[in-house]
Amino acid sequence: MIRVVVAGAYGRMGREVLKAVYKTEDMILVGAVDVRGEGQDVGPLWGGPEMGITLEGDLEKVLAEARPDVMVDFTTPDAVAGNIKTALKSGVRPVVGTTGMSSGELEEIRNLAESLKLGCVIAPNFAIGAVLMMRFAAEAARYLPHVEIIELHHDQKLDAPSGTAIKTAELVAAARGDFQQGLPTEIEKIPGVRGGSYEGGIRIHSVRLPGLVAHQEVIFGGLGQTLSIRHDSISRESFMPGVLLAVRRVMHLEGVVYGLENLLFE
Ligand code: NAP
Repeated sequence: MIRVVVAGAYGRMGREVLKAVYKTEDMILVGAVDVRGEGQDVGPLWGGPEMGITLEGDLEKVLAEARPDVMVDFTTPDAVAGNIKTALKSGVRPVVGTTGMSSGELEEIRNLAESLKLGCVIAPNFAIGAVLMMRFAAEAARYLPHVEIIELHHDQKLDAPSGTAIKTAELVAAARGDFQQGLPTEIEKIPGVRGGSYEGGIRIHSVRLPGLVAHQEVIFGGLGQTLSIRHDSISRESFMPGVLLAVRRVMHLEGVVYGLENLLFE
């Protein structure tokens, strides 16, 4: 049995993780942390029965008392790095879906996990279809280097662009090498209308609307043709197989693995 604590358990993703862990035979939920909903039993949060685990606000205390193997974190960009460091220092392996961490924070966490010889999985997208979309996009960029990325999310998302869009742009930039796209003399009549500009002029556009979950389209343009690669997470359940895979695998890792693809396509 893998003992799991969920950080951000009151949130949209956190609730989905509570349900997934409850329904998984080789895992047991031993604690739940959130700055909201303290004292509530977590079962009703995902529509399940009372589980005898209540939401608590102090991660360090929960980790010390519940003695989990793994902490799954779906919190906020400003909380996540602190939570990961707290978990590692408590001897607990983090599995992290929260996006928006800085590269400096990531580097610090890499060093800490390595020095403590503890596994840690950080993935900007746990949906297997999204990981495949990124892989196919990187492959296509070698032949069709003109690319724009449109990511679409629900309107409560805190960070923009999404971690998946940044990761896609990184992979595309690496695959196509030294390449500059776009018209240098272009004029934006409304500021920002052409989206954010990543390395080599790759444009990223972020759409935020109620009704959306997590979607991304990568559009390639070539002579007389376009190619669109699109992935849609139509419910938050789409992320759970990837999260459960990471919880199992992190038990046998040392150091940080960044990106689900590094667990899927080794
Ligand atoms: P959400 O509904 O806002 O949930 C986040 C929860 O964490 C909130 O209840 C928040 O409370 C709480 N929180 C904030 N600071 C905390 C702390 N220090 N300790 C414990 N809990 C804390 O957001 P969501 O839609 O579930 O998304 C969570 C994160 O996952 C986002 O970064 C999102 O981009 C990411 N995400 C990743 C994937 C993936 O596959 N990797 C998929 C979907 C979403 P407050 O609201 O009071 O701050």
